[in-house]
Amino acid sequence: MSPPPPSGAAAGWRGWWRQLARRWARWRRRWRARGGDGAAIPERLWARVVADLPLLQALDDAERERLRGLCAAFLARKEFSGAHGLVVDDRMALLVAAQACLPLRFRGLPALAWYDDFVGIILHPDEVRAPRRVRDDVGVVHEYEEELAGEAMQGGPIVLAWPRVLGSGGQGVGHNLVIHEFAHAIDLHGKPLGMAADGCPRLPPGLLGLPAAAARARWQHELEAALALHRHRVGLHERFGEPAPWLDAYAAESPAEFFAVTCEAYCVDRERLHAEHPAWTGLLDAFFGHPAAAPDRPRD
Ligand SMILES: [Zn+2]
Repeated sequence: MSPPPPSGAAAGWRGWWRQLARRWARWRRRWRARGGDGAAIPERLWARVVADLPLLQALDDAERERLRGLCAAFLARKEFSGAHGLVVDDRMALLVAAQACLPLRFRGLPALAWYDDFVGIILHPDEVRAPRRVRDDVGVVHEYEEELAGEAMQGGPIVLAWPRVLGSGGQGVGHNLVIHEFAHAIDLHGKPLGMAADGCPRLPPGLLGLPAAAARARWQHELEAALALHRHRVGLHERFGEPAPWLDAYAAESPAEFFAVTCEAYCVDRERLHAEHPAWTGLLDAFFGHPAAAPDRPRD
């Protein structure tokens, strides 16, 4: 939910919220009625969002149409709200939807279930200030606020800083905030309550033609190997001035961040990621159902 209204503006805020909720209910009904048909998204609106996102311009026509259908189904299932007075319009919601659905375009509608653990998406007008509470090694509790561009938490909502959503649709730099946060949501999907993201999402049955336990072991092995290699390269850069790896150093933070950052990089420039991490990129191909990967062959 959005934070409480500013003092003295409660009535206006409630009216705005009711208006927004009615508008979204209309959109959701319309998209639901069409069963996620991409035609539910008006042509002019779709063209505008494609123009805003170079990532979408790089897709072929068939991929873009598939993505449009996915966006319609996504929007029918999600609820957007704006924090601190930010009004979320259709274009803003579709800009988020298009980037969130981009990694799912090969697997199509069934993969939308990866986002079923949450409904709410909150856009902030600026960086998000998240309260933090950590206990240090000697038992002292520290409370502070952390500035974030976005956050995904178990059960939702997904929180995104709107200026960063707008600025992350480009190609070549390997960053995309929306894909990053939704990759955390994929990682968290189906995990027991309270369990943190760990870079090991629930794997599609038959991934790599392997039984579930073997596929999981392979995933874990490749994740650890690629993360160790990335940490080594980052270390060489920081200590000895070697060229920095193309992949963002933030991926070295943890297995969960490695998964999220490599999902961004994979969607923005798969070839470039492949050049640095071929085996890991092959696993992401299989996970996202890329045509270059062997199709899933369920065996158990
Ligand atoms: Zn992250």
